[in-house]
Amino acid sequence: MDLIVEAAAAPNRDLIRIPSNQEYVVEATDICKSYGNGVVTEVLKGFSFQARQGEFLTIFGPSGSGKTTVLNLIGALDLPDSGCLRICGEDLMRMGKRELTRFRANKLGFIFQFYNLLPTLTALENVEAGLEVLGLKRKEIRARANHYLEKVAMADKIEKYPTQLSGGEQQRVAIARALAKEPLLVLADEPTGNLDTKTADVVTSLMKDLIRDIGLTCIVVSHNPGIKQISDRVLYIVEGKAATHGYAD
Ligand code: ADP
Repeated sequence: MDLIVEAAAAPNRDLIRIPSNQEYVVEATDICKSYGNGVVTEVLKGFSFQARQGEFLTIFGPSGSGKTTVLNLIGALDLPDSGCLRICGEDLMRMGKRELTRFRANKLGFIFQFYNLLPTLTALENVEAGLEVLGLKRKEIRARANHYLEKVAMADKIEKYPTQLSGGEQQRVAIARALAKEPLLVLADEPTGNLDTKTADVVTSLMKDLIRDIGLTCIVVSHNPGIKQISDRVLYIVEGKAATHGYAD
């Protein structure tokens, strides 16, 4: 059974749906993942961690350490070779391809380094497009899209196309698109990787504040030290395993 909880900082507006009796939003246990047939690259060698409801967690590591691999697994884009992976109690390893696609579309919000906005759609239409899969009424889709674009301070630019927006503004639209779904979990892949330092700082705190206010759980993978500072917790990928301390610490 689902519980509907009211987000503390936005009492009348943001309702998030979380399954009851779930201590952890993400439970990854002993995950192993390799690539290749002949020459095998072992990337994850018993990677375990949990993320609690409302936590803003950064997974940190240098290029090639396995960050995208971890995010692809939690994001139901790929499956581990072995181990156990549950999101809000749902066992991803037991899902078929179609179920994984549905789970990803309905329950997860993604924020990408290069924004991934559709160039032929306006900011408003981009956020609305992300909501189509939820089966909401047209009016509710419009209202939600407007609400979240307002939250990311883009209310005056909803009719602009991505090419008419700066990088920081495009990322704000992408954040609105991810949050408007009111997902179980937000996953961000190097969300500031394409922004200058000042814009990155503004976008990072906006994303963190909004996610905290709504009460969502967020997992960011990054090698940007700025993200570490605003995170509730940082996990490092060290030799294919999760560690509480890492290099450059
Ligand atoms: P990061 O995101 O930290 O840069 P990745 O998860 O992308 O690291 O990659 C980890 C390692 O796995 C790298 O050595 C990379 O070359 C390898 N790798 C990633 N995806 C594939 C793939 N589809 N096929 C073969 N090797 C891969």
